[in-house]
Parts: sequence; C-alpha cells; structure tokens
Amino acid sequence: MIASVPLVAGVLLLGWRPQPTVPVDERAYVATTVAVGGGERAAALQLYAAGQFPGACERFSRAAADNPKSPVWRQDVARCFEAWGRDVLRQNRPEEALLLFRQGLKALPDDPALLKAAGIAAIHGGRPSEALEPLERATATEDDVEVRLLLARLYDQRDQTDLALAHLTALLAREPGHAAARRLLEKIERERRVEAAFSRETTEHFVVKHRAAGGEAVRPVVQALERAWERVGDQLDYHPTERVTIVLYEGVQFHDVTRVHGWVTGLYDGKIRLPLGSGLPSGAALDQLVVHEYAHAAIHELSRGRTPRWLQEGLAQYLEGVRVDPLLRGPGGLTLGGLEALIGDPDSARARVGYDIALWVTEDLVIRGGLASVRTVLMRLGNGDSIAAAMTQVYGMRLAELESQWRNLLGG
Ligand SMILES: [Zn+2]
Repeated sequence: MIASVPLVAGVLLLGWRPQPTVPVDERAYVATTVAVGGGERAAALQLYAAGQFPGACERFSRAAADNPKSPVWRQDVARCFEAWGRDVLRQNRPEEALLLFRQGLKALPDDPALLKAAGIAAIHGGRPSEALEPLERATATEDDVEVRLLLARLYDQRDQTDLALAHLTALLAREPGHAAARRLLEKIERERRVEAAFSRETTEHFVVKHRAAGGEAVRPVVQALERAWERVGDQLDYHPTERVTIVLYEGVQFHDVTRVHGWVTGLYDGKIRLPLGSGLPSGAALDQLVVHEYAHAAIHELSRGRTPRWLQEGLAQYLEGVRVDPLLRGPGGLTLGGLEALIGDPDSARARVGYDIALWVTEDLVIRGGLASVRTVLMRLGNGDSIAAAMTQVYGMRLAELESQWRNLLGG
C-alpha cells in the first residue's frame, strides 16, 4: 500500500509556471534597469528578453568582469543565469540547470531566488541531500514559506524531525492557516509520540526504528529487507541512492500512526511502516510483504515520486510474485484514469478490484516489453513525461489504443 509522498511531485509548483520566454516579473526588471549602462548592455538585455540566454549571459558576464564593483551588473548576471537555468529545468535537464544556478550564485552568492532554484534543481535531479544547503541559506536571507515547507519535508524524510519541526514552527508563526504545514506538523507529532522510545539501527541499506527489546522480532524483518533490496534491485536494475527508513510498530501503534484501514498490512509514505508481532506474517508471506513495501520505495525514487498509484500497486504486487487470476474480468469502460480512482476508493472491496486490475495491466506491460520496458516508463515519468507520453514512447502506440486493447482482453 502506498500513501501520498508529496515531496518531489510538489516541487515544480513552487513558482515554476510554464514560461515560454522571459517571465513578466523579469521583464519588469529589464524595464527598470535598462536606463543604466551603455550599448552593450542594451544588446544583452535584448537577447535576454528574447530568451537567448547563452548570448545574453555571456555579454552580461563580460560586462560584469569589466565593472567588478557595479551592483547592477551583478544583478544582471544573476538574473540572466536564473532565467536560463529555469528554462533548462523546464526542459527536464536538472543537472545542467543546477550548474547555471551555481554560475549565477558566483555573481550574487546569497541571492535567495538562485539558492531556492538550486535546491529545487537538486531535488528534481534526484539528489535531495544536496538541496539542503542552498535552501537553508535561502531561508536565512528571505523567509519564504514554500522553502520552509520543502525543507520540513526533506528533513522529515531524512528522519531529522527536530529540524523539520523548527521550520514548520517558523512557517506557522508567519502563516498560521497554512493547511499543508499543519497537516505535516500533525503527522510528525503523531509519529513522535509513538516513536519517542524507539531505538534506531543502521544496516547496510536501511535505517530500522523499533522498540522491540533484544531485537528478536526485528531480525527476520531486517533479513527480509536485505533480500528484498537484492531481489527488487535485480528486477528493476535499480537501487536507491540513500538508506531507506523502516519503522516497526507494536500492537495497535501501526494503525494509530498510519491511520489506515484494519486490513492494511504495510505502508510506504516515504518510510516503510510495518507492524511487528501478530500483525506481521512469517516465512514466505513476510518476504512477500517486505518486497511489496520495499518495491514502493524503489519505484518512488526511480520515478522521483511521479508514478501513478495503479502502476505503483500493480508493479509492487508483480515484484512480490503475485500473479493474475486468469478468470479476472474488468468493469466496463476501463481507462487508466478510472483505474486510478478505483484503486483509491474508500470502499475496500472496490479498492481490491482496483489492485487486481492494476496487477493485470502491469502484467500485460511486462508481457509486451519485459520489466525493462516498465523501468523505462518509470524513468520517463521521473524525467517529467506524462503517463500517456511515456506509454506511447515505450510501447509504440497511443494510450487510448492500449486502453481499448485492455478493454477487449478483459471483456469489460
Ligand atoms: Zn502497496
């Protein structure tokens, strides 16, 4: 089971509207500063306004080198590289964008807009740990609620809750009604109450948090996790870059913290959460459960949080070794949009049908192109493709055609 993990999916909303050329606020900047400087500056501004950033930034940089003390030229260089970097980031080239933002930071090392942009590019490039330093420096200069929320989410995922809470407290002091910040604060406080007495162990690939005395109950889970790391890693040809956090709960704690239905046996929401004791199966069933939840973590990272829920659940079931019931029949008018709604249905019987069909669709994709094709879909999603675009690229037909074939095969 997967719950929403909003970190990366939300990142592009932070002031990154689609902007074909120079955004309006930057045009205003151009207009107010055009009076300063000579003909070369006018030429550079013209290139900038036309979105020809390489030429514009080069001219601005040359002029800045000639006038090292002029704050106007430094602003020019910084804004030019910022606009160029944003343009490149919109084309899903986060590594390049990061280099451009760093170039701008050479002119204005404490510029909050450039620091924020560098942090976002690092997250977008799948390296959230490198986002912390620029985002922290950005908030030191300018108290931006979106940056604080982003930092809180980053620290929460890294299990550094004190730092997450500090940012949330500062944010809510400024904007007490900020709903997303409140939700995150409540989630973190709920977890902290339960996990206060938990110990923390670091294994080769995992951080394991639990309260079990002696660790007898924990060892089989850790062994299953390491097997899952190998198995899913082989199948998807991918391993997460950082350790994945697992929290093991006792008794009713699991449902208190996760707020999921009684029938849910495990959860991934950025951390893997599993119940210990009677809530946890043993033997092959334990392996299946752990592979399923670990698969969510790997799929999430590989696609930078952009995999739709049906594919998350379909692929997690496939990787744990569940196979489709050959008698499965789908509801009429099956589309991926409908499937996404069905799998999130609050009615557990309907959600169960959604899980079965998600597995069926995933199996069909594996039959068409192997697991490697599904991996390519995940990577394309991670690079910003829509699911329709990724499917067309990988399977060579429009999504509507695929959906129509599925409807025919499932007899809906
Ligand atoms: Zn799942």
